[in-house]
Order: sequence, then C-alpha cells, then structure tokens
Amino acid sequence: MSDTIFSKIIRGEIPCHKVYEDAHVLAFLDVNPLSPGHTLVIPKEPAVTVDALSDDASAAIGRVLPRISRAVLGATGASAFNILQNNGALAHQAVFHVHFHIIPKYDDGTGLGIGWKPQSFDHAAGKELAGKIAATLAK
Ligand code: 5GP
Repeated sequence: MSDTIFSKIIRGEIPCHKVYEDAHVLAFLDVNPLSPGHTLVIPKEPAVTVDALSDDASAAIGRVLPRISRAVLGATGASAFNILQNNGALAHQAVFHVHFHIIPKYDDGTGLGIGWKPQSFDHAAGKELAGKIAATLAK
C-alpha cells in the first residue's frame, strides 16, 4: 500500500494528540472531530481495509478498543458512543490505513449522525447468501 498520513503519524513525522500506544496499536484524537473526544484507533500494520488486516493486528486492536472507549467516556463524561470503521472510498474512507473511530454522542446531538435505511428481507435469498458466506469462510 502507499504511504498515508497515518503511517507518518505512526513514525512520528507528523504530530498527533496521542492517547494510547503499544507495540501494535496507536490511538490519537481526530483532527476534525464530530464531537469532543473523537478518537482514532489504528493498527501499526499498514493494511488499507479491515478485511486485509492480519489476525494478530486485529486481535491487538480488539484487546484495547474497549479500554480506550472507557477512557474516552471517563474523560469526556459522555455516556454513549459509536464505533465507526469505514472501508473503501464508496464507504466514506478517506485515509487508506485501517482505523476505528470512537465517537462520543452527547445530549445536544453532537457525534455521529446515522442514515439507517433498512431494506426488506427475503428469507429464501438470505438463507442462500448466509450459506455462501459460511462456505467462503470455511475455505
Ligand atoms: P475516514 O473517513 O477515512 O474513516 O476518516 C479519516 C479520519 O481521519 C477523518 O475523521 C479525519 O478527520 C482524520 N484525519 C485525517 N488526517 C488527519 C491528521 O493528519 N491527523 C488526525 N489526527 N486526524 C486526521
């Protein structure tokens, strides 16, 4: 993958407001926050999208995501938050290095706005698709 702004932040070439770092993970405040405390949690492994992330890097993220979320809530006083993870330009990804947004949601409505438009569900098609996904996973 090509170098991104997040690779430069990992290498310390660009400053950030760091909140957490270990051998595999870095977390820092988003520079264009949707709300106070909006934090980005990134693997140091340079994968573009989450489906390309190694098991070890994803385990390292999963291990600390709840802890960092608790710290964001504790420091901001927020009681609700969203975790957002975009993959691909079509899905609103702008920085092509895997990242998880922790976005506090406040009583005044600041935080992540969600356009959630559920479609009708066809159980026959759903059964076929679930089988297909499961078969792909088993490969
Ligand atoms: P995406 O749309 O790719 O999921 O979100 C990328 C996020 O990275 C955006 O929320 C944007 O504000 C944040 N971002 C982009 N460049 C920088 C930067 O140089 N520093 C920090 N701290 N955040 C950045």
